[in-house]
Amino acid sequence: MSSKERTTRSRIAKLIHYAPMMRATVTVRRVTCGKANCRCAAGERHLAVYITSRKGGARRQLFIPREKEEEVRSWVGNYHRVRELLDELSELFWERVTKEK
Ligand SMILES: [Zn+2]
Repeated sequence: MSSKERTTRSRIAKLIHYAPMMRATVTVRRVTCGKANCRCAAGERHLAVYITSRKGGARRQLFIPREKEEEVRSWVGNYHRVRELLDELSELFWERVTKEK
């Protein structure tokens, strides 16, 4: 096993063992709260954080309270990090099979 492969596998393993992770897209939307005399009714909308993802064929979304945003973003970041590392590992094997040809 090359040192690059060992390092990549070790990084993947660490994240898999300990890191909370979630596949989702974090989006910030401008929304109105519905109160007639709120500033948002005059056009100055509130910022609201949502996560969206697909399950089966269906798209789903969920509102995330402000105090949960940072944590949820870190979960999504960890998921993407694992995906990137898997792609790096895959690339090593792509190179290997290319060399063997
Ligand atoms: Zn409002």
